[in-house]
Amino acid sequence: MSTSSLPDPSRMRALAAEHGTPLLLLSTQTIRQQYRTLKQALPGVQLHYALKPLPHPAVVQAIKDEGGYFDLATNGEVDIVRGVGVDPSRCIQSHPIKRDSDIRYCLEYGCRTFIFDNPYELPKFLPYKDQVELLMRLSFRNKEAQCDLSLKFGVQPQDGLELMRKAVGMGLKVRGLSFHAGSQLLNNFKYIEAISFCRQLFNLAALDGIRLDTVDIGGGYPVPYTDQVMPIHYYCHPIAAELERLFPGVRLIAEPGRFIAAPAMTLVASVMGKAERQGRMWYYLDDGLYGSYSGKLYDHCDYQFMPLSKLEGKASGPEKLSVVAGPTCDSIDVIYNDIMLPELECGELVTSPMMGAYTSASATDFNFFPRATIVVVD
Ligand SMILES: *Cc1c(COP(=O)(O)O)cnc(C)c1O
Repeated sequence: MSTSSLPDPSRMRALAAEHGTPLLLLSTQTIRQQYRTLKQALPGVQLHYALKPLPHPAVVQAIKDEGGYFDLATNGEVDIVRGVGVDPSRCIQSHPIKRDSDIRYCLEYGCRTFIFDNPYELPKFLPYKDQVELLMRLSFRNKEAQCDLSLKFGVQPQDGLELMRKAVGMGLKVRGLSFHAGSQLLNNFKYIEAISFCRQLFNLAALDGIRLDTVDIGGGYPVPYTDQVMPIHYYCHPIAAELERLFPGVRLIAEPGRFIAAPAMTLVASVMGKAERQGRMWYYLDDGLYGSYSGKLYDHCDYQFMPLSKLEGKASGPEKLSVVAGPTCDSIDVIYNDIMLPELECGELVTSPMMGAYTSASATDFNFFPRATIVVVD
């Protein structure tokens, strides 16, 4: 994992002085690098960046410049890609549950590919029958994923053919299948299982005269937070090989979010105050679980944490078991309960890398502590 394009500590200090903290430093070079790395690992697959983990125009611009594609779920995300001037034919709308207004908004933009996973969704497309193209999302439960995205969405594989027949019977154009194997997936078994099932469903559909031409393998590609993960090239190799073997000539789509966004932001926060309680040092930051560290709750994620002075290699005193908390008056707002730290001073800067995905995107302004400011650094 390259973090070379992240700002060096002196630049972090300068930016913190200029903008105040909490700050999220966004490297669009890292976005591009991640995009290229995944593109190489999944040759022949259109990478549709899923905006959800980091819906920022500079990220969209970088992916657009790389010749990438986009995966949208909401009208707000439509606004971002439209604002950056993305060609709507390079986008899909992947939310399985939509209102009529959502479908219309997307079609008015020009994006025509939608996802469905249940019969109640189908009548919503009838007024736009001649415009929409559909992918059917399958559910492959995954207890190993840090976030199982097949609990809430997706038709059960054994019910897929019947649902597809129903859609086609209503005169809707079904072009293919999609799934999301789960986010931050540490191994690739689920993709292989899902791709092979999709092939069977392609064959069964063909017997019914339904010609499918698209497979969307979703997101999920892992990044190293506190532990190493399998290098993405090795991770994707069997996936790419299976796609090539089972789906020659078929349009292939992936929807990476985390892999592209996570390494691209670094948090810089300040120690607002400190206290000694029951023999432990407590440090209160100006960012916490209601802010950029919200991913600890929602994304079940853990981040590295260090004083900026440590990054600079400055001498520090002995490390002691400490507590790091967010700024709000809620006692749940504790980021680290037992972490070894040298003694920190009020006003000292601290940092967490790999804070690009599912961090500020799910942050709140609870207790009037504003979200971290995102600053594009390159
Ligand atoms: C969240 C989401 C993604 C992105 O998943 P990652 O695990 O971040 O790669 C892709 N597709 C859909 C439909 C999603 O909901």
